[in-house]
Amino acid sequence: MSDALNDALQRPLASLRLSVTDRCNLRCRYCMPEDEYVWLPRTSILTFEEMERLTGVFAGLGVHKVRLTGGEPLLRHDLPTLVAMIAHNPRIRDLAMTTNGLLLAKHAAALRAAGLQRLTVSLDTLRPERMLAFAKSARHADVLEGVAAARDTGFANLKLNTVVIRGFNDDELADLIEFGRRHDAEVRFIEYMDVGGATRWSMDQVVSQREMLEVLARRYGPIEPVHPIGGDDRAPAERFRLADGTTFGIIASVTAPFCRTCDRSRITADGTWFLCLYAARGIDLRDPLRRGVSDAELASLIRETWQGRSDRGAEERLGVADRGALYRIDSLRADPHREMHTRGG
Ligand code: SAM
Repeated sequence: MSDALNDALQRPLASLRLSVTDRCNLRCRYCMPEDEYVWLPRTSILTFEEMERLTGVFAGLGVHKVRLTGGEPLLRHDLPTLVAMIAHNPRIRDLAMTTNGLLLAKHAAALRAAGLQRLTVSLDTLRPERMLAFAKSARHADVLEGVAAARDTGFANLKLNTVVIRGFNDDELADLIEFGRRHDAEVRFIEYMDVGGATRWSMDQVVSQREMLEVLARRYGPIEPVHPIGGDDRAPAERFRLADGTTFGIIASVTAPFCRTCDRSRITADGTWFLCLYAARGIDLRDPLRRGVSDAELASLIRETWQGRSDRGAEERLGVADRGALYRIDSLRADPHREMHTRGG
């Protein structure tokens, strides 16, 4: 689009992650390892109408991709209604959702009927006992049922997100690729990131893209990169192909960050807008929204803010000596907006 709204590094405003709740029904060790959390106040959570309005203003400025996330988005009551409200906007050409799949079997058909186009299901392990140890949930079968329901409901290009952690699931890379092949889903291996919430992060638990490719090449033989042909070269995953044609992706946010092409920003469930997953502060859009400003005023606040954006959070983290967890638990408690489950993955 020639009239794209660019930031200070010439990156367009194109993709929005909308967190619909900060609540989650899993306690993944890499995201929510603590026993207790400070939640966003209930009255601060945006209504569907407020989310629809904000999305519409962003769409007017060039956003054409929206991904619903959280927390666990399916914990938000009546989510298909919000999907339908956003899908109604002709400027949103790609409407997707990331979910842990626990409640997906129940809602897949309604989400699709409402206009959700794409789904990513997080699946870190094929072994129920590992999920119990790592995410404090005995509901592995529900996730698998969710994946099957998504496929049977007709969601094409189903994706599976796997955060790879040394000593936990790094021996399951091939099993997950095989699972994806059987279920018509493409796996995306994600390097374990030092985002807010990952209070137990350390570099030695990160399995790099390079190491993943070496392990998979030993099992499958040569692996080819897949170059996007007229496709989305701003997508976070680099894609690869095995000799038999099976494709998979790797999101190398830690060892090979892709800030240069980042067109994404995030809105939390309480209407705080973050220009980078690592940003220290967000911009409060709820207050102007509830004060009754016009769409044009909201648009000019968003435009001016985006034009000044120069964040390169993941690249800056690369330069940190003795890199450890981004935040300690006390600073997460002081501001829950720093949490990954609030900011949206
Ligand atoms: N609850 C939904 C889910 O589980 O897919 C959506 C929110 S979750 C925060 C979004 C994605 O972020 C998931 O795929 C999750 O695995 C990923 N994620 C969370 N913490 C991460 C970390 N420390 N490093 C890499 N990915 C992480």
